[in-house]
Amino acid sequence: MDFCKHDIMENHVIWHNGYVNRSDRNRLNNHKSGLVWFTGLSASGKSTIAHYVEKELFNRGIRVYVLDGDNVRHGLNSNLGFSPEDRKENLRRIVELSKLFADAGILVLAAFISPFRADRAYIRSRFDGDNFLEIYVKCSVEECERRDPKGQYRKARAGIIKEYTGVSSPYEEPLNPDLVIETEKLSLGDAVQKVLKFLDEKKFISYGKA
Ligand code: ADP
Repeated sequence: MDFCKHDIMENHVIWHNGYVNRSDRNRLNNHKSGLVWFTGLSASGKSTIAHYVEKELFNRGIRVYVLDGDNVRHGLNSNLGFSPEDRKENLRRIVELSKLFADAGILVLAAFISPFRADRAYIRSRFDGDNFLEIYVKCSVEECERRDPKGQYRKARAGIIKEYTGVSSPYEEPLNPDLVIETEKLSLGDAVQKVLKFLDEKKFISYGKA
């Protein structure tokens, strides 16, 4: 039997390769694992769509899990605020967590505003080409403000919340997203179906099938 292989990093922390890898787990589960990253303004519909997609995929026997901003900040990232350094660290932890989930055979649906192109490029760079997808959930600021499900746009306009994306902080639209979902044009049901069809095309659902 071969011994496990080790890669020695600069800081002498050693990655231990096990005997079971992502491909083995994907074969066992009969679907691909990876990270589907939903980006867009607050209230554009990222979480709502991701949770419906999760439910549909779960019902089809797929190991799937939604990571969303508020939930992660309650636990793993509860010690982080909203300074530029903390936002960066917030994303870094989410990406590394997602990598471990993907390695464990899980399809992660991540719903984060992630307003900056450089940050999203970094996220993509941490994944192999075929197990990362970026979905831009597109909706105008005006419509997001009209929806305002958590009352945060109102607070941002009143200056109670500072540096709010779309109001007092920029959102850099993706230049080359893998998929765009326009929630002002599509109903919620159609948006969910469009994501499911896309994941099917990208073999996340039908892995290993003819
Ligand atoms: P985000 O995660 O992007 O901050 P949420 O999913 O929390 O956004 O909120 C989006 C709001 O918009 C929800 O109240 C949802 O019901 C509503 N909504 C209206 N139309 C759509 C649509 N076509 N797709 C997704 N959400 C929609």
